[in-house]
Order: sequence, then C-alpha cells, then structure tokens
Amino acid sequence: MTVAHPSSLPSLPAHKGSGRILIVDDNAELVDTLRSVLASGIPGISIETATTGDAALALAPHGFDVAIMDVKLPDASGVDLIQPLKALSPLTEVVLLTGFASVDAAIGALRSGAFAFVLKSFRPEELIATIEQALGKAQLKREREELERRYRDLVEVTDVLVIALDNDDHVSLMNRKAATMVGTSSDQALGRPFFDAWIPKEDRSGLRAALAETRDGRGQGRAMEVETGFVDMDTPAQPRRRVRWHLSRSPESRALVYGIGIDVTERRALERRAADAEALSAMGELAMNLAHEIRNPLNAAVLQLHLLVRGLDRLEADDATREGLKDRTRIVGDEIGRLNRLLTEFLELARPRGIAREPVHVPRLVDEVLDLEEESARGRGIRIVRDLPADGCIAIGDREKLKQVTINIVVNALEAMKHGGVLTARVRAEADRVVLSVEDTGPGIEPEVLASIFDPFFTTKEAGTGLGLSIVRKIVDQHAGDVWMTSDRGQGARITVSIPTGR
Ligand code: ADP
Repeated sequence: MTVAHPSSLPSLPAHKGSGRILIVDDNAELVDTLRSVLASGIPGISIETATTGDAALALAPHGFDVAIMDVKLPDASGVDLIQPLKALSPLTEVVLLTGFASVDAAIGALRSGAFAFVLKSFRPEELIATIEQALGKAQLKREREELERRYRDLVEVTDVLVIALDNDDHVSLMNRKAATMVGTSSDQALGRPFFDAWIPKEDRSGLRAALAETRDGRGQGRAMEVETGFVDMDTPAQPRRRVRWHLSRSPESRALVYGIGIDVTERRALERRAADAEALSAMGELAMNLAHEIRNPLNAAVLQLHLLVRGLDRLEADDATREGLKDRTRIVGDEIGRLNRLLTEFLELARPRGIAREPVHVPRLVDEVLDLEEESARGRGIRIVRDLPADGCIAIGDREKLKQVTINIVVNALEAMKHGGVLTARVRAEADRVVLSVEDTGPGIEPEVLASIFDPFFTTKEAGTGLGLSIVRKIVDQHAGDVWMTSDRGQGARITVSIPTGR
C-alpha cells in the first residue's frame, strides 16, 4: 500500500488541467523527483516549493490547491502544520509524505485533516492519481464557494428584503436591505425572535397563520403572501414600514421558511391618499356646500336657545318644572354643539387648502397645547408629564395645522382615561425628523379596532365624530410625515407622529 485515502474518493471528478501545488520537503532530490513526475503527469499545473514549515506558511496565502508535505520537516511536523496551513488557505488539500507505512500513521494523517498520504517510495502513476483527486476536490470546493458567494451577493445586492426563519420563527438569515430597514445588521439579526423584534402586535396573527400554511405546504407550491409592518419594536418612534412578504418553504428543510419582502410603504400611502381624495371629491363640493348651509340655521338655533333659557328663568312655574325644562334645553345645546363640531371637523378634512411652510418649534407648540388642556386634565384626575427639549426639534410646516394635530391626539388621550391616569408627551429629534409621542394609561385599543381608528367617521365614543384622527392623518400626510398608534390591551395607548424637519 502506498496511498491511503477516504473511500469516497473515486466519485470526485478529476481536476480540469490547472492547479497550484506547493511541495514542502527539505530533501532537494525528492522535491526534484516529485516536481518532474507531477509536471509531466498533470498538464497545466504550477509548482512552488518550500523546505521548512515556516516557509510553507509564508507561502500559504498564495492560495494553493494542494500542498504535498513531508511529515518530518526540520522545524515542524507536517501533521501539526495542517491546521495552521488551512487557516491561512482554507481551500488547500494536504497530502502527507511519509517514509513508513503503518495503519496508525494513515489514520492519524486522515484524522488530522489530510486528504491522503503518500509513501516516499511512491509509484509515479499512484502519486499522479492521488494529486489529481486532491486537485479535483479543491476545485469542487472552489466552485461551491464561488456559487455560494454569488448567491450571497445576489441576496445582498438585491433591492428586496430576504429573510429565513427557522421552526421557532428565529431569524436564520436576514439580508442587508432588511436589516438596514429595522436599524440592525445581518449578523446582529441572526437568532433573534422575528415576531417580538420586528412585527407590530396587530400584524402578528396574520403572519403566524401564513407561516403555518407555508410550513404545512397548503399553498401547493404557490408562495403565501402576507403584509405586515416591519419595525424595530424597541424603538417605537421609528417611522413604520409596510412590507409585503412572499413566503415559501425551503425545499431542503421543512422547518425553514424563506420570505421575500417588498417595501410597499410608499405605495400604500399613495393608495390611501388617492382613496381619501376620491372619497372627498365624491362627497365633494355638494357636501361642503351642504355643511356650510347647515351652519347658518344651526347658529340661529343656538341664538334661539339662549333666548329660551333666559325666558325660562322668568317663567312662572315651580322649580322642579323649570329645572326639568332647563335640563332639556341643555341637552339640545349639547347636541347642537356636537353638530357644530362635526361640521367644523368635516370642513377641515374636506377643504383642499395647502399648508404653510414655516419653522415650527414643536416642543413649544406641544407645551402650549398642554397648557390649554391642563385644567381639563386636572378635572379628570390626570397628571401630565412633559418631556420636551428646550432646543432643537424645529420642523418646517404649518404651525396652526400641527397645533390641530396635537390638540386632537391630546384630547383623545385625555378622553381615554376616564378614571384618571398619566399623559406623557415627548418630543425628540431623530435624524431628519421631529418625533412627537403622546402616551396615556387608559384602557388601550383592541387590535381589531386599531386597524380602523384613522378611518373617517370611525368612533367608539357616544358623542364622537370619528374625524379627529382622520384630520391628524391628513395633516401629517400633507407634511410628508408618518403617524401610527401602538397599544397593549389594558396598558394604554401611544400615538407617534414623525414629521420631516424639511431641511
Ligand atoms: P373620536 O375621538 O371622535 O372618536 P377620533 O378619530 O379622534 O374620533 O378617534 C377614533 C377612535 O380611536 C376613538 O373613538 C377611539 O376608539 C380610538 N382612540 C383614539 N385615541 C385613543 C386612545 N388614546 N386610547 C384609546 N382609544 C383611542
């Protein structure tokens, strides 16, 4: 026996007529023999030589396909050199040269990571066959590496989001585009729980169902599609992205699900604006005129009501009767007030007016609104916490409209806390945005309700108009900003408005 190698070797392809070989041996005569045998037996190869272990390691970064190494070198054992050599040049296959044949030596050599070992008394054709197989294996590894690199490049440079989730929905792959979107890196994303880290609560059940169907293979080869928010859940002030995911099961491992995601944030915002514009133009001028027309008789009714109340005071009747009548007029007054508010808000929403562009000091504006609401808050047993920086946080926009936004969301928060609580208003500068968040300790919002709160006329309040948040969204849209609400049931709600500084 002169050659030992793993039994799987015969299936390796012969190499394709090129390759770099390093011979490491201090016996000049043997080196010459090896060189001439190989050069004549394997066309197209290049050969370099070294006489010591140190010299071999110095040459290793050249990237050899095969290193033929004497087991006994002047400064090292060839066996001990295998690992350091592979560390420097991972694709190199090592063939050990030894003076004696023993089963132990053969097993030891293969265990230490050598491809094969060759006796110094080799027969030329056996040496050539072994080196050709080693070259073939090195080439195969190189090709596989190249293929993998191309796939990786493809995943990295592509403009879509690519993720892979394991059976427990932990991330086993996240490409750069996806990682950047949620402010992390591909490496940091590895192993993190996908849902907890990046999927807003209201989107989790939809995604869970789609993943389950994908894993079951119920889609019959078709990719499941699902749309979710995609956001760093630890940074609630971050603008929200919407992503449409196409899910498919890995053909190799049932547990692994791949997701290709397309950022649909802008598309959805556009669709929404178009739908709003359409809805408003459908209601259109007629409705606006009608609203104006209703105003006049309503104002007349308010006037008449005042006169009525005054007349009641002079009415000759017992106190109980008078108070009963007064209660009724109060109810009529409240109802007219509500109609008036509805009209004002409707006109605000429907008016196609442009916005001013002036520097607005957002913390100061929020401070003013909170001053206005302070008394009403105190009356409801609500404490207001202001986390407002004195400097910076200036946005370019429409002061009055942004004030309207703040009033609407602060009033909502106050109205939510029927039994007192804490309202926390925060303003922060973040990159090119000013971010306002208003948090309350009210009952929070059910996930099903959360999806509708920005819709016109959606309200859960007895005397609500359902237009407050529609107006907020319209104004924020006009400022090219973002607004979203997050809420844990029973733990209050937080609304966040993010406006570009416009610089
Ligand atoms: P309205 O206040 O007239 O109902 P909005 O558009 O301002 O109209 O609000 C729509 C709905 O959103 C409310 O009826 C309520 O159900 C919900 N909502 C808004 N803000 C909060 C909050 N801070 N906590 C709980 N629910 C809220």
